[in-house]
Amino acid sequence: MAGFEVFGDEEKKEIQDVLDSGVLFRYEFIEQRKGVFKVREFEEQFARYCGTGYAQAVTSGTSALKAALTALGIGSGDEVITQGFTFVATWEAILEVGALPVFTEIDATLNMDPADLKKKITSKTRCIIPVHMLGAQARVKEIVEIGKIHGIPVLEDTAQAAGGRIDGRHLGTFGQCGTFSFDAVKTMTTGEGGMIITGDESLWRAMSEYHDHGHDHVVNPGGRGGEGRKFIGSNYRMMEIQGAIGLAQLRKLDSMIMAMQKNKAILKEAVLSIPGVEFRQLLDEKGDTATHLAFFMQDAEHCRRVNDELRSHGCGAVNFSENTWHYYPRWEHLLEGRTLASSGWPFVGIDGKRRVVYDPRILPSSAGIIERTLVLPISVKMPEERLAIMCDALKRAGNV
Ligand SMILES: *Cc1c(COP(=O)(O)O)cnc(C)c1O
Repeated sequence: MAGFEVFGDEEKKEIQDVLDSGVLFRYEFIEQRKGVFKVREFEEQFARYCGTGYAQAVTSGTSALKAALTALGIGSGDEVITQGFTFVATWEAILEVGALPVFTEIDATLNMDPADLKKKITSKTRCIIPVHMLGAQARVKEIVEIGKIHGIPVLEDTAQAAGGRIDGRHLGTFGQCGTFSFDAVKTMTTGEGGMIITGDESLWRAMSEYHDHGHDHVVNPGGRGGEGRKFIGSNYRMMEIQGAIGLAQLRKLDSMIMAMQKNKAILKEAVLSIPGVEFRQLLDEKGDTATHLAFFMQDAEHCRRVNDELRSHGCGAVNFSENTWHYYPRWEHLLEGRTLASSGWPFVGIDGKRRVVYDPRILPSSAGIIERTLVLPISVKMPEERLAIMCDALKRAGNV
């Protein structure tokens, strides 16, 4: 599943450079740091790896979304469309910048359904966020085309698909920008951390200044204290130690993906023994990061029987209709508008009226897909014995 599995000497060596200099901050300390700029180097390497112009490191995938939305000019009164199958962070960020999330159906890719996207666009739509869930591609080319027709920018939430591609082109480079997460369970990890990539220099500059309290980063004789600013910002700066870990993890990313693709292929073969099974649609199998294997049973009842069998062998799969963090009808805090703000914001507006009411029944096609989908997480390291037990359990599940 993830970079934590391969954390080792390479990461420690990179971290040691930072400890030796004693400089934990990504800016300033020019004398002491002796040329060590880990976060800056990580940004440059990440942009190069993805084949794009600019990368901005931040503290998390959530702050990456927030900084990207802010730089795109999104705020109160705006609607942002995303999919009803994603991690809560996607819509938390939308609400946090003051905009309202609107949710689309997913299709057999388990990602945004472009046909439903077309229906959800209104005069208030200011951004579209397809999410590359479970390591694989959303129909991002079609989505970008739809966005173009309406003049709406596309932000790719690539938190779960670092290193993923379509025909060799990296996910995160199709829209105006792409965001990544390096939290503890993501494909590559820096413990906590995130990145935004873009080919647009002015968008990158806005994100860079915003994430650092608005500092304009223009060379100034007064140092940072003398720098100017064009707008208010916040603080989402990445630490040097995280940048150091990121450099080592990035160098391992393609080999991690290759290892997971190998393990996934073995399990996929075993899944074929389940009668009537179909696989999640992949737009480009070579560009799949293979962090998960998702497959569809005949119906919800069949899905339960198969998973009961898998569980009885210690190989239970994830059924996302039971998961409260990734699936719209299970987000009761969103549906009920629960917030710490005594005013009720962001669910209640300044006029004291509810700004939006979310009905749990608005995504029936997604429900029809999710209730018969099973997902097996794939690890980088899956010993042969473990793979054999899983394959055996899947073959037995073919008889239930
Ligand atoms: C993990 C994740 C995020 C948020 O990333 P953090 O670094 O944990 O804040 C955003 N979107 C998706 C789809 C994720 O899986």
